[in-house]
Amino acid sequence: MRCAIFNLEDAYKNFFAKRASLPTFKSKYRRQSYRTNCIKSTYKGREYSNIQIDLINNKIKLPKLGLVDIRGYRNLEVINGNIVNATVIKETTGKYYVSVVVEEIEILEKKVIPTNIVGIDLGIKDLVITSDGEKYSNPKEITKHEKRLKRIQRKLSRQIKGSKNYLKTKEKISKIHIKIKNSRKHNIIKIVNKLASEHDIIVSEKLNVKGMIKNHNLAKMVTDASFSKICELLKWKTRIKGKYYYQVDTYYPSSKTCSRCSEKTEITNNLNIRNWVCEKCKEEHDRDINASINIMFEGLRLHYGMN
Ligand SMILES: [Zn+2]
Repeated sequence: MRCAIFNLEDAYKNFFAKRASLPTFKSKYRRQSYRTNCIKSTYKGREYSNIQIDLINNKIKLPKLGLVDIRGYRNLEVINGNIVNATVIKETTGKYYVSVVVEEIEILEKKVIPTNIVGIDLGIKDLVITSDGEKYSNPKEITKHEKRLKRIQRKLSRQIKGSKNYLKTKEKISKIHIKIKNSRKHNIIKIVNKLASEHDIIVSEKLNVKGMIKNHNLAKMVTDASFSKICELLKWKTRIKGKYYYQVDTYYPSSKTCSRCSEKTEITNNLNIRNWVCEKCKEEHDRDINASINIMFEGLRLHYGMN
């Protein structure tokens, strides 16, 4: 399964106003959505479907609405597979989006003969750290957006609640939130595409869902959300490429083990320690790279256990 999101051109609003049978979006300040399932039928030997996407002419056919112009999704080349459903979303900014879920059909049944493996660890400072020593960070523009967001939020706190200017500022805030969300998403897709094209076996940690619910730290929450998106994307990307993806259990002590001699350490319990030296073999470690190397080795063990 994969999900593609398109902007619905403003024409959609006019379409919307005219068709009374459609669900209406009542509130202006809440994100709202409705979903329709894709239904296929065959008539005189031709197949019909109530949801269709034409990426050449940038149009989507939606039930009851007919053809609506869409603006594309940067990373989408083609839609490969069966459309499962479409969700029309009205964001708080007043913009309309349609998100289409597609069931991938072009899956390589024949697996590649793996020639390389990579372990990945997730950090807060760097988003992804690989066992090859590569570090991928969050896009720089996010910091810029976040700074602007803080400034505008301060402005909002000085305005009279419910006033015209207050609502305008709120709309600006929503827009920045969406910008941040989109740049995170595009960055993640870029990282996953790179990892899946360069490596045959990819190993990551399994996300601790229980820990996620309990956690109230915002930075950690955002990182967890990014990480679960990365895992989800890696899963289907490796699957359609006939590659392998493994997830290591979270209780596996990847950051507490020396990747060279397997000696355990307590030094890394302190999260501020970025570099450390193994007491036994004296190897110098970068905390995150060492963890990703351990994750890679654990994945290799899983791979040979299964194949
Ligand atoms: Zn060691």
